[in-house]
Amino acid sequence: MIIVIKSCSPAAEIERISEEIRRWNITPEKCVGQDKVVIGLVGDTAEIDPRQIQNLSPFIEQVIRVKKPFKRASREFRYSEPTDVVVPTPNGSVTFGQNHSLVLVAGPCSVENEEMIVETAQRVKAAGAQFLRGGAYKPRTSPYAFQGHGESALELLAQARVVTGLGIITEVMDTADIDKVASIADVVQIGARNMQNFSLLKKVGATGKPVLLKRGLAATIEDWLMSAEYILAAGNPNVILCERGIRTFDKQYTRNTLDISAIPVLRTLTHLPIMIDPSHATGFSEFVPTMAMAAIAAGADSLMIEVHPDPAKALSDGPQSLTLEGFEQLMQEIAPLGTFFGRWTQNHRATTTPKFAPRVSSIAGV
Ligand code: PEP
Ligand code: MN
Repeated sequence: MIIVIKSCSPAAEIERISEEIRRWNITPEKCVGQDKVVIGLVGDTAEIDPRQIQNLSPFIEQVIRVKKPFKRASREFRYSEPTDVVVPTPNGSVTFGQNHSLVLVAGPCSVENEEMIVETAQRVKAAGAQFLRGGAYKPRTSPYAFQGHGESALELLAQARVVTGLGIITEVMDTADIDKVASIADVVQIGARNMQNFSLLKKVGATGKPVLLKRGLAATIEDWLMSAEYILAAGNPNVILCERGIRTFDKQYTRNTLDISAIPVLRTLTHLPIMIDPSHATGFSEFVPTMAMAAIAAGADSLMIEVHPDPAKALSDGPQSLTLEGFEQLMQEIAPLGTFFGRWTQNHRATTTPKFAPRVSSIAGV
């Protein structure tokens, strides 16, 4: 349930209403929006008649029951005001949110060595990215596949951060590693396979670090938002949702199926920012640019792109990784679209402007 307070209501009155609510063993969560103050009621409100609350004060404009199982993640809980996830980075704060420019996240699937991560960081930064991604702990289907370099890879990410000033996004898989990962990462990633690892969600929520929550391989939108709810309920409001493709039938021509419809659907359900990862969604680098453009057109707030200096030699996810030049080209290709949708700023401008031959179109059947 939420209580919408009339504009310009006295602060003391809002406090008094909150006090009354606490007496019913319900926790009031005040949210100060641009136009309105909203109090979200957390707890068992099933038996409470909204009129009882309405009668508490003439400064209450409206009482709305949130029927969805996800409460804090629901759009209603913030009275339709989008959440801005503001992440401080050495290059300045970057905001993920519906009313902000597109946030570009790029980097290899795994951090392999110092040279490749620093070079990738420098090149993606020069091309306009704000965040470097790279896995230190890798969730691999096979226990015999490369599992990531762990702690030493975190140190390399920290080094790339110092050299470039980019924010760092990296995954945590195990609750035992949370402190280590959170000490390096500006945004902590929960991977698709851990989307419903509830103990991990609770603990990551408690760190207070912004969390990137990837959609599970076979998760419904509601499952996904309920997972976000775990992080929000742990007291961490900074959650970014990342659609990275879901399992359908095809294994041969696409790795997963990018659910572009998740963007407009989430917009109706939640106030949280939305990222699209076309790399894991398609599994093939040649399809990444088209899907990145589709994501911008559908209203994504951020893109995560896998980039590797030599994809053929990558220790993980080479086939879906763009080369450094491929990423630079992508940035130039998406700039007009980003500008058209009002999601591109000066900050995105590449500091290098290499010339490219037109990309070979897969549609042309070449
Ligand atoms: C990744 O980002 O490299 C990754 C493993 O992603 P996902 O959890 O979406 O598979
Ligand atoms: Mn990957």
